[in-house]
This record gives sequence, structure tokens and C-alpha cells, in this order.
Amino acid sequence: VSAVEATEAHLEQIRAVDGTYNAFLHVGDEAALDAARDVDVALANGEAPASPLAGVPLALKDVFATADMPTTCASRMLEGWVPPYDATVTARLRAAGIPILGKTNMDEFAMGSSTENSAYGPTLNPWGENRIPGGSGGGSAAALAAFEAPLAIGTDTGGSIRQPAAMTATVGVKPTYGTVSRFGLVACASSLDQGGPCGRTVLDTAMLHEVIAGHDPRDSTSIDTPVRPVVRAAREGAAGSLKGVRVGVVKELHSGSYQDGVLSTFDAAVETLRGLGAEVIEVSCPHFTYALAAYYLILPSEVSSNLARFDAMRYGLRVDNDGTKSAEQIMAETRAAGFGAEVKRRVMIGTYALSAGYYDAYYGQALKVRTLIAQDFAKAYETVDVLVAPTSPFTAWKLGEKVDDPVAMYLSDLCTLPTNLAGHCAMSLPAGLAPEDGLPVGLQIMAPALADERLYRVGAAYE
Ligand code: GLN
Repeated sequence: VSAVEATEAHLEQIRAVDGTYNAFLHVGDEAALDAARDVDVALANGEAPASPLAGVPLALKDVFATADMPTTCASRMLEGWVPPYDATVTARLRAAGIPILGKTNMDEFAMGSSTENSAYGPTLNPWGENRIPGGSGGGSAAALAAFEAPLAIGTDTGGSIRQPAAMTATVGVKPTYGTVSRFGLVACASSLDQGGPCGRTVLDTAMLHEVIAGHDPRDSTSIDTPVRPVVRAAREGAAGSLKGVRVGVVKELHSGSYQDGVLSTFDAAVETLRGLGAEVIEVSCPHFTYALAAYYLILPSEVSSNLARFDAMRYGLRVDNDGTKSAEQIMAETRAAGFGAEVKRRVMIGTYALSAGYYDAYYGQALKVRTLIAQDFAKAYETVDVLVAPTSPFTAWKLGEKVDDPVAMYLSDLCTLPTNLAGHCAMSLPAGLAPEDGLPVGLQIMAPALADERLYRVGAAYE
């Protein structure tokens, strides 16, 4: 198949099914076909492909700046906004010859676990009637599951790549913090945000990982180190056994409060790893229990600061001024109209947690917990190579089931948050279907910072 044929086939599928799933906020037919044509022409002229993925189209989460398409973060605040530049991730995709099909739906500014916080309507999970696809990157995951795209990009601040991957039986990786550039990625919580690859197989995901990772001087937290050999690791894993690999099962991420079918499917996955030759060890990470509380202070604190830029003056929405309002009134009215309820909730929590007199009690304490979690990981990795846990305590729930209960929504992030707080890497891949509802369960594999190749080695062996 030519790049144009592959791209056309996926645009066709988007036209056929996206009216149902709402995975895309914007489809860039012409630009995608142009990019595909360039690949075909270069190949016809005998040029070497720009990358192993040249001509394979992709769905991009609508939080990455794209100079030829709107970038809205699923918010009214940025409705129709077309950035004047490409994010580094966007630029790397283009340089690799990957046609960008369009921008995918998400929870507003990446805050949420179900994609119901989008200002443009929820995305539906192709796996079940009226089921959420997870969040915040539900659009990218649903696009993969509905065969609207063979590759996708997400961002993972607290699980937004892994949890949707689990809900849709796809593969998603949160790379080590600092290895994928945040330049042009609209900030949610800067110390946690990380872009990453999504696919339907571990090897596809690895190939995309190598396209987007790498040092970027325009991101001050970007690590200047060679890209990890994840494709090689995926190939090794697919071919070989797991003999000599020590796998730790995190006791604190295996709780009676999780859905039965999640636990039984996860336990079976651990037995499969053992059958492949891995040495399975139970490990304890006692502070993981506090990850949720710490994250939901640190994230809102950073959000309250990052989202101050949406001030109705620089870009985005401005509620009309009839000439009588002060700048403060315009800002307040614009933010009231432009942000959804969850974004407002977090801005308020964060502003409170950072305010004088409360800073030490809330934000300061949360930072200490963050350190303790990193120490738990460090101790665990003295005895194991990777850690495993379910990706999410539940399978995909029904649309609307948790929208009025933010804390119930936050609980679905229990298993993914420790990795973000420590700046480490993790993968979610399909583990099977929960017997009680027939919905996908994710196996989460975690590894230390800059050991991303371990995820792919173990993931490909399991797959
Ligand atoms: N669900 C988490 C939250 O709502 C994670 C978000 C993310 O990773 N962007 O904050």
C-alpha cells in the first residue's frame, strides 16, 4: 500500500465511524494527504524513507500545537485557535513522514479520566455501548480501537495515556519524564506532563517512541541523553523469553476495592509472565497509598499557575467588552465562560493550596510525599527490574456514571499516579477481558527513569 492509500483508508474509516465515537475534534484531510503524497513521491524517486513509519498516518491529541490545524485542548477557551508554530513532537512527526490525520478529543486541558470533560462532547469507547474510553486521552485511544488510526499520540500527566489504553485494549506508554519534549505541548502540570506513543501493538508503539523522543533545547526539562533502544527491546522481547527478568507485583496496587475481573485478569497476566520465565516477587511500596492525595494537590497547584495565561488578553476567548468593563471584569467573565467545571475546580483547589498560610500544610506536604514515593520505587528497584500492577482499578464505566462525583473519578487514577510523581516510565497493554462485563483490562508495566526499554522487552514478550 502507498502512503496515500493508507491515509485515504483511514480518512474513510473516520468518515464512516467518527460520527458515532467522536474521537476527532478536527480532521485535516488535505494536509494528511499532502504529507502522504510527499512520502510516495520521495520513495518513487528512490529516496530512503524518512523513518520506518514514513507514510503511516497518526492521530494527534489536541494538546500539541499544530500550525495548520486548530489546537483547542477541548476547551471553549481555545475554540478555533490555530497556533503560529508546531510543537516539537508535531515537527518530529512531520519530519518522520507521518501524515497527521487530525486532532483527537480529550478532557479539557487534560484534566479528567473519561473524556467527558471535553467542551465538544464525550468520546465513546468502541468496546461497549455507552462506555467511556478513559481519559484524558480518550480520543486517541478510541481512534486506535475503532481503526480510525494505526498510531496515536497522547500525554500522560497522571495516567492519560495508560488508562485510556487499558479501557480500549490498546498499547500506551508514558516515557520517562524529560525524554519527550514539552515544547508546544499546552501545559497542564509541567512537572508531570509527558507526551508519549500509542498503538495497537508493542512494536508499533516502540517505533513511534523513537520518532518522538530525544533532547530538545527548547524544553528546559528535556534530558540530553541518547534515545533508549526501545525498538530493539521490543524485538528481543517478542522473540525471547523473560528468563532472568525480575518482576515485582506491587502489593499496594492490588486491593480488594478493585473490580474482581480486573484482579483476576491481572493475576492471570502475572502467571503468564512467570510462565515466560520471569521471576515474580511481591514488593511493598507503602507510600503509594498517598499518591492520590499528593497528586491532587500538586497537579491543581501547577494548573492554577499554568492556566493563568488564559487571561482574555493574549489569545483565545474574550467575552465581548461593551466598553464599560474593567480588564479584571473581562478576565473574570471570560474565564467563567471559557473554562468547564473540572478546570475551575482545580484552579480553585490549586490557588487555595498555594496561598500564604496553607502552602506548607498542603503543597509542601504533598512534595514530601512525592519524595517518599520516589524512595519506595528506588527501594523496589533494588530487587526487581520492572513493577507490574493493573492499569486501572475498573474497566470502562458507563457514560455519566461518575460525572457528578469528582472523587470517584479521581480514584480511577490510583494505579497510574506513582509513576508520574516519580518521573519514571510505564506502559499499559491489553491483559484480557474482565469476565463479568467483557471489557478490556490493562496490564501496567513500570520501570525506572531512563529504562524505558524494559517496558518494551517485557511488554512484547507478554503480547
Ligand atoms: N486523570 C488524571 C487527571 O485527571 C490524569 C490526567 C492526565 O494524565 N492528563 O488529572
